[in-house]
Amino acid sequence: MRVHLDAGTCQGHNRCYALAPELFDVDDYGQAVLLVEDDVPSGMHDMARLAAANCPEYAIKITENG
Ligand code: SF4
Repeated sequence: MRVHLDAGTCQGHNRCYALAPELFDVDDYGQAVLLVEDDVPSGMHDMARLAAANCPEYAIKITENG
C-alpha cells in the first residue's frame, strides 16, 4: 500500500494527523505532510484507510499493491 497526498487539495483540517499521526505531520502553515512515502507497513493500513476516508477534501489517496 502507498499513500498519496495532494498538497494542492489539502485545506489543512488536520483530520489526517489526528487519526494517523504515524503517517502525517502538519507543517507551519497547517498543511498536511506525508511521512511515509514508500510502502506503508501492514500494521498501518487500517489507519491509512481511515485517514483517507475522513479527509474532507479527498486529498488522500490509497493505492493497494497486493
Ligand atoms: S485531512 Fe485532508 S485536508 Fe485535512 S490536513 Fe489532512 S490531507 Fe489536508
